[in-house]
Amino acid sequence: MWCNHDHHQPEEGCSSEEKQLLERRSLIQGLAAGGMLTVAGTSITGCATNAETGARQLLLVGEGQLNQMAAASWDDAKQKTPVSKDPRYTNRLRNIGGRISRGANKENEAWDYEVFDQDTKNAFVLPGNRVGFYKGMMDFTDNDDQVAAIMGHEVGHVTGKHAAERVSTQMAGQLAVVGGTIVGASQMGKKCRSLTGREASNCEQSAARNTQLLNGALGMGFQLGILMPFSRRHESQSDLLGAKYMHKAGYDAHQAVKLWEKMAENSPNRQPEFLSTHPDPSRRARDLHNYIRYQETLGSQGWQSIKLPKIKKT
Ligand SMILES: [Zn+2]
Repeated sequence: MWCNHDHHQPEEGCSSEEKQLLERRSLIQGLAAGGMLTVAGTSITGCATNAETGARQLLLVGEGQLNQMAAASWDDAKQKTPVSKDPRYTNRLRNIGGRISRGANKENEAWDYEVFDQDTKNAFVLPGNRVGFYKGMMDFTDNDDQVAAIMGHEVGHVTGKHAAERVSTQMAGQLAVVGGTIVGASQMGKKCRSLTGREASNCEQSAARNTQLLNGALGMGFQLGILMPFSRRHESQSDLLGAKYMHKAGYDAHQAVKLWEKMAENSPNRQPEFLSTHPDPSRRARDLHNYIRYQETLGSQGWQSIKLPKIKKT
């Protein structure tokens, strides 16, 4: 026996730099007010524990703000790719979406479901509960449970607040670049008020430039956060949350394992797009299998959280 310590997971989502940034948050909020972005609002919790995933995450933006930003991307997607009107697809997806949203206790929120008429094995979710499935993805599945597995995964990104975390992390990265400017701008604001005449107007001009720079940096972070694919950590969290919502909605969670096994069989020659931004399908199948088996051993206490027991090395 050489080691009997629990393995602590590294703290996720909130680095010491980000914590420093949070201490300057009121400063940033003040400066950004009136710009294209407002890092403000009561929904901002900073570095918080997500109730669904149990993981810590940095949140600098509210859901409402993300929702607004995503509306344009959603309209864009619907203009670029034809949307299916075939009820065999649209009704099926809406029904499955409705059940999964109940499984996730999100049935009281508005959801948008669209089937894009394209032979792509892919699906996505945008902030504001907008779920898009490509026809090719639905055709690939064997049954409703497998569609529900993907739907559950996408809803997992919503409840995991992955978009907000990704945007916040990107914004924090951008802010770190102009961090000095932020402090400078705040001090400059005070200085400007003590000046008069031409000196005051020059001072105000440079303060305005700094604010512009800050808003530019925030905007850049926002764009990167929206456009970048989710991390593997987020993908794994969503897989497990998806299985949980499937189970709660009365679907057979084992079908999620079947789906990823099928994906793995289909991927050696040509990788479907869905796989290129997502973790290895055989690994996803294995992780899901382990998770589902563990929940089943817990009996009535099962399906409460996506945390797996810590493995003790002895
Ligand atoms: Zn995903």
